[in-house]
Amino acid sequence: MTLFPGKIYAQALLEALNIHGAPDPEDIAKRIGLAIEEADADGFEGALVRPVGVPLGAIALKKGVREKGRRNFTIAHEIGHFVLPGHDSIGNVCSSQQIESWSTDINHYEQEANEFAGELLIPTAQASPIVTKRLPSLKVIKEVAQHFNASLTASGWRFCELTPERCAMVMSTKRRIVWYKAAEDFRFHIKVGDEIEEGTVALDCFLGRKIPSAPVSVAASLWLASSNLLPQASVWEESILLPYYDSVLTLLWIKDRIERDAEWDEREEELLEPLDPQEFTLRRRKWPGKR
Ligand SMILES: [Zn+2]
Repeated sequence: MTLFPGKIYAQALLEALNIHGAPDPEDIAKRIGLAIEEADADGFEGALVRPVGVPLGAIALKKGVREKGRRNFTIAHEIGHFVLPGHDSIGNVCSSQQIESWSTDINHYEQEANEFAGELLIPTAQASPIVTKRLPSLKVIKEVAQHFNASLTASGWRFCELTPERCAMVMSTKRRIVWYKAAEDFRFHIKVGDEIEEGTVALDCFLGRKIPSAPVSVAASLWLASSNLLPQASVWEESILLPYYDSVLTLLWIKDRIERDAEWDEREEELLEPLDPQEFTLRRRKWPGKR
């Protein structure tokens, strides 16, 4: 059984505070006894400061975070560290690489705080009706971002969690794939660590070329690490250059069947491989890629 405490705690907090419209994390922080302070910081983007044994604390935010959605996510992430069980025993100083990321390199406390923040900012109950009626596109993701005052990144992976379609959100930085978050039945691994290839819209974004304004069909092998692809398999791609960190966000959508053997599931196969006991937890959501 997979447990998602981040989601469950976020839903419980929204319910306890009786929040039904788009949540404002700054207001939520204040209501649960967390002050927000901006600080000159080099080593972190957000931090939770809490005196031992007192149910109060403060969130320190790095000064000058340009994007409102990113700032909101960081606040929500720190609220996560404040309310999630077990998080009081760890140091809650969070770097830019840990916030809003689904890299398997970050520890499970950070993943749990991100999962919490995603649900707190973009609650399933409110977002599902918007997402499930629409076909996957960055246009819908932008609407979600605007509605919930969230970043494009968080809105993108929340979209992938909630849509019934086979979608994945991919983050690339400096022309390399850094992480992705896929819908439950996406069933493929994306080539994390690899360089973005010629033929993708993502590369066009990095190189400043003109990009199409709607999803386009590209060879599936440019993105997916699999030996189970049909010849000529394609995925729908839409990419956008993020105005910071030299990064590109990509929405992938498997619209038609592209696997040779429809029963074969890479992730199930990996579950049969020996696991590193240090790495294994019930909360784990993603299995390492074969690399
Ligand atoms: Zn953190």
